[in-house]
Parts: sequence; C-alpha cells; structure tokens
Amino acid sequence: MGKRWVATINLETLEVKTDPYFRFKCLDNCGECCEMLEIPLRDEDIARIEGLGYNAWEFVDYEKLFYRGDKFLGYALKKRAFDDACIFLDPETKRCRIYPYRPLACRLYPFVFVRKGKEMEVYVRMDSFCPGINHPEGEPVTREFLLREYGDIIGKYRAKVLNE
Ligand code: SF4
Repeated sequence: MGKRWVATINLETLEVKTDPYFRFKCLDNCGECCEMLEIPLRDEDIARIEGLGYNAWEFVDYEKLFYRGDKFLGYALKKRAFDDACIFLDPETKRCRIYPYRPLACRLYPFVFVRKGKEMEVYVRMDSFCPGINHPEGEPVTREFLLREYGDIIGKYRAKVLNE
C-alpha cells in the first residue's frame, strides 16, 4: 500500500491545491474497508458509541493495541469471527449500523491528513481493495469536497493555527 498526495489546504486562508488527476467516490455499501481494515478507537469514539447504548466490551478489542513509536494510540474496533468484518457492518446490506457515529478513522478513510505548520497535506492510501479510489464517477479533492466532508475537522485545526 502506497500513499499519494492529493491536496494541500492552507489552514489560514482555506486555499486548496488539488491533484486534478485523482478522483474519489465512496461506494457507501461496498463494505470492503469494514472488512480489510483494523480501526483504532480514540476515547471520544468510544464515548460517542457508548452514548448509543452499547457497552465498550461489546465493540472494543482490548487485545489489539495501536502505537505510533512508543506512544499508545488506542485499542481496535472489534471484528467478528465469521467474516472478519467490523461488528457494526450489517452482513446483508453491507451498511454501517452506526454510520453517523462511526469512529474518526472510518470517516477519514482512505484519506490521511498530515499537518505541517499552517498547511494540512491530504494523502490517499492507494489500497487496491477500495473501488472508490480513482472511480470514474469520482470527484477530485477540492476545497468544496474537503469542507463538505471534513469541515469540522479542518475547522478545529484552523482554530489552533489562528490562535498560535
Ligand atoms: S472500500 Fe472505499 S468505496 Fe468501499 S466503502 Fe470503503 S471507502 Fe467506500
């Protein structure tokens, strides 16, 4: 799996440079990423899903730990034994049962945000299992796309930059 640059957003001005040759369209109910990925959970993800009435032991896999270097990042979202898919994926419809409340890592996929000073670089994981990557009906990662899909996340980073 390689990573490819697709856009850079200036967090002060919200100007965006975009790779016009890259296109993306999530096919929503394909569910490949729900089977292929291991998803790290942040404390906020766990609290939000618990707010729906689930107990953490039902969806947190305490045996899978994520680290960046020696920094503990979190535990993994549980997968089920019979198909190795996320426990929240409906096996028939291939839809996520908690879609509006899904973890941040699921929202971001297949994109990776890397903040460098006043800019945020956006990369895409070139996973061969994701049919949305370079889909013919896809759209480039423009300012409109980024603000529509990730406006809340960009807003938080922007607030930090403007207060520095
Ligand atoms: S694998 Fe790609 S196209 Fe399929 S649901 Fe996940 S992000 Fe969307």
